[in-house]
Amino acid sequence: MFSSIKWKFIIIYFLLVLMAMVIVGIFIVQRFETQQLENRTNTMVKQVETLLNTFSDLSEDDWLELSDEIQNSLNEWRFSGFSGTETLYVIYDADIPRIVASSHVNYENITGQNALSYKSLDPTLILSAYDGERSDRVKQDANENTVLKHLAYPVFNKVGQVKGILYITDDLKDVYKTIDDTKTILINATLLALSITVILGFLIASSITEPIRDVTKKAEKMAKGDFDQFVEVKSNDEMGQLASMFNYLTLKLKDTIHEMDLEKSKLDTIFNYMADGVIAVDTNGYIIHANPVAVDILELENIPEKGFLSQNLLPMKKINLEKIDYEDSDTLEGDQIAKINNSIYQVKYAPFRNEKDDVGGVIIVFQDITEQHKLDNMRKEFVANVSHELKTPITTIKSYTETLMGYGDIDRELSHKFLTVIDDECDRMNRIVKDLLQLSNLDYNKTKWNMAECSIKRLIEDICFKLDFSVREKNHNLNLNIEDDLPNIVIDRDGIEQVILNIISNAIKYTPNNGEINISAKRQNNNIVITVNDNGIGIPEEDKKRIFERFYRVDKGRSRELGGTGLGLSIAKQIVEAHGGNIILRSKYNVGTEVIIVLPIDNRQL
Ligand code: ADP
Repeated sequence: MFSSIKWKFIIIYFLLVLMAMVIVGIFIVQRFETQQLENRTNTMVKQVETLLNTFSDLSEDDWLELSDEIQNSLNEWRFSGFSGTETLYVIYDADIPRIVASSHVNYENITGQNALSYKSLDPTLILSAYDGERSDRVKQDANENTVLKHLAYPVFNKVGQVKGILYITDDLKDVYKTIDDTKTILINATLLALSITVILGFLIASSITEPIRDVTKKAEKMAKGDFDQFVEVKSNDEMGQLASMFNYLTLKLKDTIHEMDLEKSKLDTIFNYMADGVIAVDTNGYIIHANPVAVDILELENIPEKGFLSQNLLPMKKINLEKIDYEDSDTLEGDQIAKINNSIYQVKYAPFRNEKDDVGGVIIVFQDITEQHKLDNMRKEFVANVSHELKTPITTIKSYTETLMGYGDIDRELSHKFLTVIDDECDRMNRIVKDLLQLSNLDYNKTKWNMAECSIKRLIEDICFKLDFSVREKNHNLNLNIEDDLPNIVIDRDGIEQVILNIISNAIKYTPNNGEINISAKRQNNNIVITVNDNGIGIPEEDKKRIFERFYRVDKGRSRELGGTGLGLSIAKQIVEAHGGNIILRSKYNVGTEVIIVLPIDNRQL
């Protein structure tokens, strides 16, 4: 309770006023006491001087002889009541200072006593009076009940020598009573002032501490997350400014927290829906955060109570994190490729800092690069394939050319044969380059489609006519089954002709002599479906899924022998897809193959 500002305030106020009152009180009482005693001394001196002037006996030089007269005068003085509380002793020095008369009631016992040894008088005052000095002193009475003022007044004879002393004592009871009354008044005033101080201090302190308490209470609520706190601004003073600053702070804080919430929710959404896996690992190796993708990658479903110790996780073992040394900043950043569960990941890590700006751990990002890896491999394979495909004819051309150049007397028939081979290989290279260029154009959408209405029936018949020689050569049985009322279709005639020609010629090529080839075309909903099937060698199961890849051939040697480049089906697929269609290949090894081309009838939007 007393630790509150209010009580501190009151106690300080109280002590200040108390100290001020005590200091002022002591000063006043001291001054008052001194003043009173001085007044009393002056009165006593005046009294003595009046007596000296009044009693003619005292003007005589030999007081010892006149002691009875002086005593009588003193008795008169005492009885007249002028003496008040004062007692006068007349001291005359014959051989020793002797009391010759006194206004004391027991003057008879006192008269004749040695003044220096008389207990009611102060010898030092008597001695200094004999030295000609008037002196006074406040003394406790011998019976110790009263305080008396003693004054020794030297009286000089005609030649200026001290002839005797008038020693007067006066009771100071009334003086000290007045001083005590003054003290009581001052104590009462102090108590009143202190009470008023406590009440005023309480009111002033409350006016300061109440708004502070209000602000504190609201700040406490804010700390618990309730930011709808407003303090009433009651004045324009420092407290009012504090209240309005508090309100401003609340608003600012609310805005900032709102912004932070928004940012956090954005980050949470990014974190949860990003395609990459992200985990945060603390310096002890525990996974403290993981987004859903990372949970999948690292199979983190069954979370142990203490959290995951990353080193214990099988997929994490594939990432070489041992080299991370939290003391060495150079090791805290890096990337590597890791194979986890049949997927390839690019794993990048970088440190994050905690609130003390120390390294709190590392953030690890898993980027699935399986597809990219596959594409990379395909690209490398493609380059190798192209080089290989071109190398074979180039080697052939080179060797035949060298042979021709080396033998000048080679006969005409042999040289013709050689030149025919060179010509064939050139044709082959030309075909490969042409196909590659076409693929490249298709890849970069550079192919100019010449879309026009066209009869599929007519197109297939033209193609069959072109291939008639090959069909006859292999003695195939070619059946055409084309619906009569097939609608015209909008296509790039040359492109689709290339597709169908490639598929039918494949059927001819990869079907042993005397084979059966059926070509059909029909309407199915808004599509024309062209089917080419044969009872040829078929395609083994494991090759089927790769058959549309560039340069992919089941039997490379055979295909090459038959003049194939391995690019036909991939070109066909791209052309059909560019027409908004689809191409499907079904095949059974040693049974036969069926290729289905689906083309939308209306392709005008291309
Ligand atoms: P190619 O120029 O070698 O014929 P394609 O891309 O047209 O190239 O065909 C790719 C591979 O698919 C061929 O090498 C062949 O092995 C296989 N193939 C295509 N059509 C058939 C078919 N009707 N019967 C059997 N194999 C086929």
